[in-house]
Amino acid sequence: MLTKTEAVVLRSLRYRETSKIVTLYTKKFGKLNVVAKGAMLPTSKFGASLEPMSYILAVLYKKETREIQFLSQADLIKPFLNLYSNFEKMALGLSICEIVYKLIKFEEENPRIFKLIVDTLDKLNVAEKNEINLLWFFIIHILEESGFKINFVSCILCGEKLGDENLSEKIIFSSDRGGFLCSKCGAGAEAKIYYSIVTFKSLVWLERAKVESVTNLKIPSNINNEIHNLLMEYMRRHLDEPINLKSLEVFINSGRTK
Ligand SMILES: [Zn+2]
Repeated sequence: MLTKTEAVVLRSLRYRETSKIVTLYTKKFGKLNVVAKGAMLPTSKFGASLEPMSYILAVLYKKETREIQFLSQADLIKPFLNLYSNFEKMALGLSICEIVYKLIKFEEENPRIFKLIVDTLDKLNVAEKNEINLLWFFIIHILEESGFKINFVSCILCGEKLGDENLSEKIIFSSDRGGFLCSKCGAGAEAKIYYSIVTFKSLVWLERAKVESVTNLKIPSNINNEIHNLLMEYMRRHLDEPINLKSLEVFINSGRTK
């Protein structure tokens, strides 16, 4: 059956002499592997549409019984050119693709995840400041969509609503339970790592922000490092496949985060 769907390219690998195996996140079918025959040929009809982060209209030849489908056509819907010309944007965009690739199972459709990917890449393409916020925003929301929602609302031990009156400067986050401890419960608990209350408040802000305005908040670089550590630790704890955003660490660790 020939079928059309919007898709974002997550990964693209050479296959045999002249073809590619491309992992797509499609609007209709979720994550899917497709073979693009002849995609390595200079005269290929696919052109540059199969690079990671490409937002395309894909025509698939799909059979239910097959594990891998055939891509018969791919056209760019909107080119995100800045994601390929700006090192920082590219690192962030590729991190988003890698997270989707590793977090999401094959053929589980979820149009909200599709919209989240496209909206985040689209905004990243045009953002002029604080681009890293988009990655944090993306991670918080894709975790929500895939059943790993972090609880920012109430203490995971006593259930009390978290606010200024029951939070201290240093806060404990439990990766196991996906949430924070209030100061009372935190005082009796042991933790190897404490997070700043600014980290907590930044995460709450990011969770509530709209994608259009998410880059308005300037997060200090030490807080970005804490957010990075917290989210990576949480994803490592809950995912089968390890996530090491290598492209990202280049500027997280060197303090280049703006
Ligand atoms: Zn508590």
